Amino acid sequence: MDSPREEAAFRPLMDNRFHFACHREIPCFTQCCARLRLILAPYDILRMKRRLGLSSDQFLTEHTETVIDPHHRFPMVQLKMNRETKGACPFVSSEGCTIYEDRPEACRLYPIGRASAMADGAREAQEKFFMVAESHCLGFREKKAWTLEEWLDHEGVKKYAAMNDPWRGIVTSARSLGPTAHIEKKHQMFFMASYNLDRFRDFLFNSGFFDRFQIDSGLKEELGRDDVTLMRFAFDWLRFSLFGEKTIRMNG
Ligand code: SF4
Ligand code: SF4
Repeated sequence: MDSPREEAAFRPLMDNRFHFACHREIPCFTQCCARLRLILAPYDILRMKRRLGLSSDQFLTEHTETVIDPHHRFPMVQLKMNRETKGACPFVSSEGCTIYEDRPEACRLYPIGRASAMADGAREAQEKFFMVAESHCLGFREKKAWTLEEWLDHEGVKKYAAMNDPWRGIVTSARSLGPTAHIEKKHQMFFMASYNLDRFRDFLFNSGFFDRFQIDSGLKEELGRDDVTLMRFAFDWLRFSLFGEKTIRMNG
């Protein structure tokens, strides 16, 4: 999580081992769930909107803000903090995270940070881990010892990273977006296919898409009912439509 509350101390992970525990009895419990710049990736949104029983439009309107950041060439979305409760995350309660099983990847990783990059054409991301040691977090004083592997398994990080990394590869791709005149339209396509799966599905099924592209009937049926298949297909579509990669075959 990227927090503006204080300067986070980024520390190397010595031998991939650390001491940490987070539990209800700790005095700082839930203090970290406020005033965050928590950028969301597609699989985070898929899980949260499903958990909350919201449409993509509802989730994006109620719970996110769009960020145009010079460090990213595509629009990002971040979780909207609650201004009426001193910037608390809308999902935090005195008992902890109310969407714990579906919390975003960054929340799972904390207090570990992960920098990842996926080179164009690579199948797997290169990743580096480090500690995000913020002074308000008392979890580092606890005795519980972890290896990095144990932490990633315990927090369910690997599944989220595997889902989101292909999208990060698109975000960080060095490939050209083509003429400047096309960029706004490409940003709109990026936004829809990355964050608004309901609209992306509507685009596939109601724009003559299946007449123009070679999609077998089994995949078409899955795209209609399965959000994870739809999300993965959206990444192929983005590579095709943004960069002209041959990830989808046209008819004729
Ligand atoms: S600040 Fe650290 S120890 Fe306290 S609740 Fe957050 S993660 Fe847990
Ligand atoms: S989603 Fe859950 S874990 Fe993440 S900041 Fe909000 S309350 Fe905390």
